Amino acid sequence: MDIRTAMSASAPNPRQHFASDNYAGMCPNAERWFHEANGSGHEPAYGEDRWTQRVSDALRELFQTDCDVYFVFNGTAANSLALASLCQSYHSVICTSVAHVETDECGGPEFFSNGSKLLVAETSSEAARLGKLTPDAVEALVTKRSDIHYPKPKVVSLTQATELGTVYSVDEVRAIAAIAKRRHLKLHMDGARFANAVATLGCHPSDITWRAGVDVLCFGGTKNGLPVGEAVVFFDRALSEDFAYRVKQAGQLASKMRFISAPWLGLLENDTWLANARHANAMAQRLYQALLPVPGVELLHPPQANAVFAKLPPAAITRLRTEGWRFYEFIAGGGCRFMCSWDTRPESVDAFATDLRAACSAAAG
Ligand SMILES: *Cc1c(COP(=O)(O)O)cnc(C)c1O
Repeated sequence: MDIRTAMSASAPNPRQHFASDNYAGMCPNAERWFHEANGSGHEPAYGEDRWTQRVSDALRELFQTDCDVYFVFNGTAANSLALASLCQSYHSVICTSVAHVETDECGGPEFFSNGSKLLVAETSSEAARLGKLTPDAVEALVTKRSDIHYPKPKVVSLTQATELGTVYSVDEVRAIAAIAKRRHLKLHMDGARFANAVATLGCHPSDITWRAGVDVLCFGGTKNGLPVGEAVVFFDRALSEDFAYRVKQAGQLASKMRFISAPWLGLLENDTWLANARHANAMAQRLYQALLPVPGVELLHPPQANAVFAKLPPAAITRLRTEGWRFYEFIAGGGCRFMCSWDTRPESVDAFATDLRAACSAAAG
C-alpha cells in the first residue's frame, strides 16, 4: 500500500486537542525556513552552517547583548545541561514542587550534573497555588543549613511562564534575582513558554532575563511553533565554558543543525514568536471566559499564558474523553489542564467549551 494513503497524509486531522502545545505542528514561517535550509544544498555540519550563525546573531540582537547561544533537541536537555554547567555534583538547585526540572525530566538535571540535588522550596500557599517561587522561600532554603552535610545551594531555577500558566512580573524576577545575587546563586530560567510570558508582560525580552539578573535562559521553540529545538542562551558567558562538549556528550549536537536553527529564523522574523504566543494566550483567555459561567467548573486561577486549569466533575471528564477530547489531569497539582497552541482555532475552543458545558450539565444530572 502507498504509505501516504495509509497515513492519510493529505487529510489533516480536523480535531484539535487541548492536551499540550506540543500537539501542534510547525508554524508556516518555521516550515518555510526549514525548506529554505534544505534547498541550499550542501552546508557545513555541526552548527558551522550560515543559518546557525545567523540565528545566533539574531538572538543576540533580540536580547540586545552579546550572549552565547546553543541549540539542543528538547527542553529536558536544555534545562539539564544548563543546570549541569552551573553546578558541581555537591551543589543544589532551588525550584518549586511543580517545576518541570523536578517533576518531568526523569532526573535529567541530577544525572547530567553527576548528582546535584534539586531542593523544592516551601512557599506560601498563595505562591504555591500560582506555581511560583518567592524570594522568602529561596532565602529560607539558603539560610536553613550551611554545614558540610547539606548540598550547597548554587542555583535558583524559575519557570517563565510557570507550569501553572502564570507569569512572573519583571519585579518578581528582579526580587528573586536580588536574593540569588546576595547569596551567590546563579539564576536559571526554564523558558519552555518564554514567548507566552513576554507576550503577556508586553516587556522587552531583555527586561525579564539578563536585565533582571537571569544568567541562563532555556528559550523554548518547540511549543512556540518549531518542529524541534530549544536555544540555550548564556547571558553570563563565563558559564558556557565547555558547554559545546556537554551538548555533544549528551547526544544533543545535531549534525544537520541547520534544520533546528533555520526554523528559528522563521520564529524571529517579524516577531512571529510573539504573534504565535499572543494567539495561544488569546485562545486560553477565550476558553477561560467560556468556562467562567459553567456550573460545576472550578477555574483554579485566571490564565496569564496559554493554559487554563480547572476542576471538573469526574463524570464530565469521562464523558469528554469518550467524545474524543484529549487533555491532561493532575498536571502540576490538581485540576485538568487545557493548553492552547499557536494554531488553536477559535472554533476549536468554542466546540470544546460547548462539549464541556454539556458534560458538566449531564454530570449534574
Ligand atoms: C515542555 C516543557 C519543557 C521541555 O520538555 P521536553 O519535552 O523535554 O521538550 C521544559 N519545561 C517546561 C516548563 C515545559 O513545559
